[in-house]
Amino acid sequence: MINKHIVIIEDEVDIQELISFNLSKEGYKVTGFLTGEEGLTGVIELKPDMVLLDLMLPGVDGLEICRQLKKDSNTEHIPIIMITAKSDESDVVTGLELGADDYLSKPFSPRVLVARIRSLFRRLKAKEVTSKSIIKLTDISIDPAKFEVLVQSKPVALTLTEFQILHHLAQKPGWVFTRDQLIDAIRGEDTIITDRSIDVQIVGLRKKLGESGKNIETVRGIGYRFKE
Ligand code: CA
Repeated sequence: MINKHIVIIEDEVDIQELISFNLSKEGYKVTGFLTGEEGLTGVIELKPDMVLLDLMLPGVDGLEICRQLKKDSNTEHIPIIMITAKSDESDVVTGLELGADDYLSKPFSPRVLVARIRSLFRRLKAKEVTSKSIIKLTDISIDPAKFEVLVQSKPVALTLTEFQILHHLAQKPGWVFTRDQLIDAIRGEDTIITDRSIDVQIVGLRKKLGESGKNIETVRGIGYRFKE
């Protein structure tokens, strides 16, 4: 088995070492960089399987690195987990919109980090669902061709917007979507959709899904996800 290669870009030496130690112990190959500049060059050269990216870096910061990696066709596919301070919610939102896959707030335990990394690799491995195929998750079945949702085999009547939100979330279980990303996903309708109305749609959607509605999780300050 080829070990997955993970690059860590983190300017705090202690955290960098703690992460490296724990990931190496799990069998990952780890390369660390202490500055944004070196990290960016390093990722472009090494093409790792994943990047752990501290957002608060001196010089080129994490969001800029994320932006650069996601606009380069050689690196855009590399998954990114952002590492943030608790207070950086708006940066997390920006990072997710730039294409980062997940985030973790400091302080975190190495065990949680390892679990997140595994979970992201697992999600990436799961076959990408094409937009027309039927999605089955827990007791919910979503048929985008027929605009039909079944919960425990019984049809549930959703509005088009509710359907689109559910379909978007369910295509990537475990992934967090910001309100803006959900608005983008359902654009093309006549009504103007605001952040607030996304929240209202989610409330309606959960209610209609009954017990299964709890699969749609609120990620405080960030957005929503379908439970993995
Ligand atoms: Ca930092």
